Amino acid sequence: MREMSEPVDPTPTSDELVRGLAGLARDHLLDPPAGADPVIDFASPAELFATFDRSVGLGFAADAAPHPPGAVLAAARSLMDHSVQTRHPRFLNQNFAGPDPVSIVGDWIGAVLNTTGATFEAAPVFTLQEAAVLAKLAHLAGYRAGPEVDAATVDGPTAQIAPGMFCPGGSTATLYALQLARHRLRPAVNQAGADGEKLVIFVSTAGHYSAKKSAALLGLGSDAVVEIITDRDGAMRPKALDRAIAECHVRGETPMAVIATAGTTVTAAFDPIDEIADRCEQHGLWLHVDGCYGGSALFSPGERHRLAGVERSDSFVWNLHKMMGMTQQCSALLVRDPSQLGPCFAVGADYLFQPDKAHSTLDSGDRTFQCARRVDVAKLWLAWKAHGDEGFARRVEHAVGLADHARSAIERSPAFAPVGPSNFTNVVFTWLPPEWRAANADPLSALSDADRSRLHRLAPAIKRRMQSEGTAMVGFQPIDGMNAFRLIFMNPAVEVSDVDAVLAVIERYGEDEWPALA
Ligand SMILES: *Cc1c(COP(=O)(O)O)cnc(C)c1O
Repeated sequence: MREMSEPVDPTPTSDELVRGLAGLARDHLLDPPAGADPVIDFASPAELFATFDRSVGLGFAADAAPHPPGAVLAAARSLMDHSVQTRHPRFLNQNFAGPDPVSIVGDWIGAVLNTTGATFEAAPVFTLQEAAVLAKLAHLAGYRAGPEVDAATVDGPTAQIAPGMFCPGGSTATLYALQLARHRLRPAVNQAGADGEKLVIFVSTAGHYSAKKSAALLGLGSDAVVEIITDRDGAMRPKALDRAIAECHVRGETPMAVIATAGTTVTAAFDPIDEIADRCEQHGLWLHVDGCYGGSALFSPGERHRLAGVERSDSFVWNLHKMMGMTQQCSALLVRDPSQLGPCFAVGADYLFQPDKAHSTLDSGDRTFQCARRVDVAKLWLAWKAHGDEGFARRVEHAVGLADHARSAIERSPAFAPVGPSNFTNVVFTWLPPEWRAANADPLSALSDADRSRLHRLAPAIKRRMQSEGTAMVGFQPIDGMNAFRLIFMNPAVEVSDVDAVLAVIERYGEDEWPALA
């Protein structure tokens, strides 16, 4: 038997391996993929298993033995080689892209200091950074007169509670917001449980599915979510909301909250927050603004009008890991009345949130649902200090400028047609076959079922070509039952020439693939 005094490292880590892995990440950080590089070196699942079989294998044996550092490093290389290069200027696939290099390193710094944001004791600087960043975001949203924080505003007897919290993503933030909404309306439910009263949440048909998932988790049932029709732009119709609230009363149900979306997922539509806020005030409903995507318009003096009225909301979720290029995840949930956070979430675990501990009122852990919480604020704080308000505004304006360029290129080209209106940084469109181009100014308006079905099958065929050749990545989704592409801009590395190149690639694949789909 070994004596305990003998020094033994239970998991010896090779210096060579750690340096090698750090080098891989560092090289990628400093030399990101560009123009002609593939967006993805695509491999099928079978090819990926075969690739990893040459180093350490993808799966684990029942008694997995350690592998030598060189083999693990080779596996890490395969991982990087075959992953999607989301920093690539032709990755326009999703509502995250082009992570800010400062944020990437900020994430590593958070990791090397590995702690939880739950208490001041474990995260003194991160806690103050959270207070500062949340105050600044709350100021931009109009919840607070000024963004300033200092020792007296965050600590001591007259300190203010931070106006929100960082959450592991926008869906989770919406869940927390709806919990706050129910707690304001029915404070007894937290302890006693629901009594069967039907509480109703309103969101537009273009709103995010996290509303339904949250309603299910809260025990309200996903049927508690009532969808409100939108106008041509994809924004909620306030009059339809009026009708839905009235119908809810007729059914004997209780309206609880409205979710206004600022930047819908497909067309980046902004619901009219001011008009929705009028209804919420009139009926005493919680107003939650889902600004996961479009909240970042607030950074730009020219774009922030899209969120007019957000200062009247009760809660506002803002994903900085989308447009602003923070690494995933970085989501702030802002609340207009932060004094509700404690009563809604606290259970007062006395082993962690000892009230007699130094500066314990700074502990955020009992004002949210999570226990361990990543210090996502660190990367945002560093990036904001580095770029300033102006740099953040430029990022947003660059993205909108590219979308405007894409919109006019699509309007001008006979090979493409816009599919419905699209807004802000998003552009929804389809390729048009040559035989439809000349005859009709609006060929999409009069398609036969067979033509619609053929065009519907084209986008996935084009997407497969993009993936297998690594030329670009652009997402598609059905619009009124027919697939259309969505370009979405946020990566500052994207240039006008990349937009043109991606459109040219789609045009070429369209010509190749269309005949086979007849
Ligand atoms: C992305 C998004 C969400 C969900 O946010 P996650 O961080 O992915 O959970 C919710 N609403 C809208 C409008 C979004 O764009």
